[in-house]
Amino acid sequence: MTNEDTANTVSSTWDRSLSPPAGVPASADVVIIGGGIVGVSTAWFLAKQGVNVVLCEKGHIAGEQSGRNWGWVRQQGRDVRELPMMIESMDIWRELEAEIGEDVGFTQGGCLFVARKQKELDEFAEWLKIAEQHGLDTRIITGRELEEQVGPAASQWLGAMYTASDGRAEPHKAAPAIARAAAAKGAQILTACAVRGLETEAGRVSAVVTEHGRIRTSTVLCAAGAWSSLFCRSLGISVPQLKVQGNVLRTAPAKAVLNGNVFDCKVGIRRRQDGGYTVAHGAILMHPITPSTFRYAFKFLPALRQEIKVLRLSIGREFLTEFRMPSRWALDSVSPFEKTRVLNPRPSPSVIAKIRVNLAETFPDLADTPIAETWAGMVETSPDVVPMICPIERYPGFYLATGFSGHGFGLGPGAGKAIAGMLTGTETGIDLRQLRLERFFDGSPIRPLSTV
Ligand SMILES: Cc1cc2nc3c(=O)[nH]c(=O)nc-3n(C[C@H](O)[C@H](O)[C@H](O)COP(=O)(O)OP(=O)(O)OC[C@H]3O[C@@H](n4cnc5c(N)ncnc54)[C@H](O)[C@@H]3O)c2cc1C
Repeated sequence: MTNEDTANTVSSTWDRSLSPPAGVPASADVVIIGGGIVGVSTAWFLAKQGVNVVLCEKGHIAGEQSGRNWGWVRQQGRDVRELPMMIESMDIWRELEAEIGEDVGFTQGGCLFVARKQKELDEFAEWLKIAEQHGLDTRIITGRELEEQVGPAASQWLGAMYTASDGRAEPHKAAPAIARAAAAKGAQILTACAVRGLETEAGRVSAVVTEHGRIRTSTVLCAAGAWSSLFCRSLGISVPQLKVQGNVLRTAPAKAVLNGNVFDCKVGIRRRQDGGYTVAHGAILMHPITPSTFRYAFKFLPALRQEIKVLRLSIGREFLTEFRMPSRWALDSVSPFEKTRVLNPRPSPSVIAKIRVNLAETFPDLADTPIAETWAGMVETSPDVVPMICPIERYPGFYLATGFSGHGFGLGPGAGKAIAGMLTGTETGIDLRQLRLERFFDGSPIRPLSTV
């Protein structure tokens, strides 16, 4: 393990055990690379169809983004290309605990994007047309209705975009529970098992090579989160992807000051199942500059322009780490994936301090609530902040599901269903055509909608 694996938190709600498998199965119908919410949900849907699926995770389930996120499960404000999949995902979340028999902390407590300026409220109102077309219960609320949601804090805001059917779940519970459900249906979930690369025969995928041996297969899904671009580059496939560090804290249990998830320029906050709050800054995106920043700069220009006011660029050890990282390696030697079992960036002390100040200003009742834990996570983004889910045509048998861009936790179960359909050729009613990787290379305009 590397230094990045050492916990930088006060106390932890994550299961960090790393138990390597005794060996790997000789073959599988499908191999999934990555045990985040996208990988485990896909494994679950495949296993339910009777597909012989093996999932390989280099660290532990939900060790990276899927266990570190804010826990918002929201439909509102999404890009229309992913909205039908998100609505499907919400249906799955609603039934999830009953179906798998485990608690994932899912609650439909609503979601609010609050506005301090009329311009913001007008922009939210624009999205209502999309909500209406998709049959969502999103509306603008003001005055008494806003106060019912957030108490006296409401006086800071002109109003909010509000979706009562949106919700939240506990990230440290959800993906591990789905992984167990997949295993109960026959999926093999291997942790501490990095995939180093692929083998082909007659131009088609024929096997994955893991650190513990080879698994013969004709179908491989790369759901490797922040590592997808590197994995694909080792195969000669360009996947534009950049990382943004999110810094988060959770408070000790405290008085209930709001019902749902609230997003403001000062804080993003939601109530936790343990009675505390998960809180982040509403307007700081930290991007550590790396060689990938220059490699993909042109494709990310529209997103950079849109987020310029909230973007904090820095250049430090991440640049050197990536610069020194090989983009190709022999499959019988240690790969970069084993060298960083769990991507565990240090939370920025200055951002955490700002979150504390903003929390106290926005919700004075929480000003003296102790901070129980702080952490950070690397969000992987695509140039238009919408995922890439598609087959890689020039590598038959190889598929990609990545670029969930800071909102893939809520989308995970719906994505898993859609991806399982894509891999088995089963109709799910979810159209993935607009999520193909090629949109970044065929001259299509790159138009990011929202990074919330
Ligand atoms: C701070 C923060 C806040 C967020 N808030 C929200 C939110 O409120 N709501 C929301 O919907 N989304 C949110 N997100 C985004 C969401 O967490 C991600 O979009 C989602 O978890 C992505 O899931 P994933 O399975 O694609 O990737 P990940 O969870 O990153 O999983 C990928 C896995 O692949 C593994 N892996 C990589 N390479 C290999 C290899 N070669 N071999 C084996 N394993 C490999 C990694 O170890 C990792 O566990 C947030 C993210 C962060 C970081």
